[in-house]
Amino acid sequence: MINKLMNHIERYKHRNFNPHSNLFRMIELQNQTGCNYSCPFCPQNKDGIKLPQGSMDKELYKKIIEELGELRFKGQIRFGPMDESTLDNRLAEFVSIAREQCLQATIVILTNGSKLERQLIRNLIDSGTSLIYVSDYTPNHGIISKINTMQLSKQDLQHFSLRRRSISETLTNRAGNVPESNIPRTPYPAFCFYPFEGMAITYNGKAIICCQDYLFKEVMGDVQQNTLAEIWCNNKYSRLRKQLLNFNRAGFICQKCDFNGVNVMLHPSLDKVYIVIHNLLTPVKIYYSGRF
Ligand code: SF4
Repeated sequence: MINKLMNHIERYKHRNFNPHSNLFRMIELQNQTGCNYSCPFCPQNKDGIKLPQGSMDKELYKKIIEELGELRFKGQIRFGPMDESTLDNRLAEFVSIAREQCLQATIVILTNGSKLERQLIRNLIDSGTSLIYVSDYTPNHGIISKINTMQLSKQDLQHFSLRRRSISETLTNRAGNVPESNIPRTPYPAFCFYPFEGMAITYNGKAIICCQDYLFKEVMGDVQQNTLAEIWCNNKYSRLRKQLLNFNRAGFICQKCDFNGVNVMLHPSLDKVYIVIHNLLTPVKIYYSGRF
């Protein structure tokens, strides 16, 4: 497994990032900010943390989607990694705009499921949503039970991934943004896949380093001034990637982050093992079990 992982990281070294090859495979769009939950592992709704607030202007959203269309984007368009995207009553409309331009993209809604009623589910699926990924944190997983009693068709259920979660799970420290979380005293000497595979765009058009950057501290570019492709290939990204390939997280918000840096979708068996890679020669160090 370690060899496989190292080979994977090694392959990134030879990538030439340009808009025509090695484009991001996932883009996370913040249609609006805010969440109706206050889970202990998340910076949302915590005393002493003032998260940016707003909703994405529709024209700005269309500009982003048009660019994705021109790039013939085939990866994942995700709503909701930092916020509860279903609180925005424009969500189905936003999905349909994305689907129109990006026929081959996988459109994913990440949600706590609290707002999923029959009509919203219908609208989201009919607009072109590929997957509604529900993380049910209610004590008795009542949201999953509710969805199950809706007697959705087999076809509709294929658009769901229903996960029974717990608010006592140990997740990452969200790049140091979770109050009272463990912040590494020195940056982990670790790789991170995110800047090689994903982009995250805030409601006001900032391309932030990743969805862990709740306070928009590490801005890689601004889609109101540059295209997605220009930002993806800019000098700041090159510097960050070079550092991460050398297992160096210093100087970016990554220095406070305890994410293991591995894409569990690429390496599903690492889902439950938290690792930090020091360099190509030293062994893997196990910190604790956790999820992104
Ligand atoms: S190390 Fe953490 S903060 Fe840095 S890109 Fe990865 S997930 Fe984001």
